[in-house]
Amino acid sequence: MKSKILVIEDNEQNMYLLTFLLERNNFEVIQAVDGRQGIDAAEKNRPTLILLDIQLPVMSGYEVACELRKDPDFDTIPIIAVTSYAMPGDREKAMASGCTGYIEKPINPATFISDFQKFLPAHSSEKGSLP
Ligand code: MN
Repeated sequence: MKSKILVIEDNEQNMYLLTFLLERNNFEVIQAVDGRQGIDAAEKNRPTLILLDIQLPVMSGYEVACELRKDPDFDTIPIIAVTSYAMPGDREKAMASGCTGYIEKPINPATFISDFQKFLPAHSSEKGSLP
């Protein structure tokens, strides 16, 4: 069974790149393009991990993280903020909102998967499939 990764991202190019890198490494990707859709997709799909853009329509990434952390079902799921390198204040706010960690934008295709895998729960294997 593949690990499900929910990607909440409104930028088409970033969504394309994240989906491409994750699927190539055998993860299943669920896509959401705004904050509300992201929360709905999290409740419906119970992903292994959430990648969360901060600048989102409808609800910001901070609001999404805060709302998910209020739900006991989501109090341990890794939520990784995808924050702009140019906006260092975003990281602190993301962590204060309940995010587990952050990965910087622009996404570096050469290092993304290894950075990402550090945040996967221990029972998820390196390549996305459970052993
Ligand atoms: Mn965005």
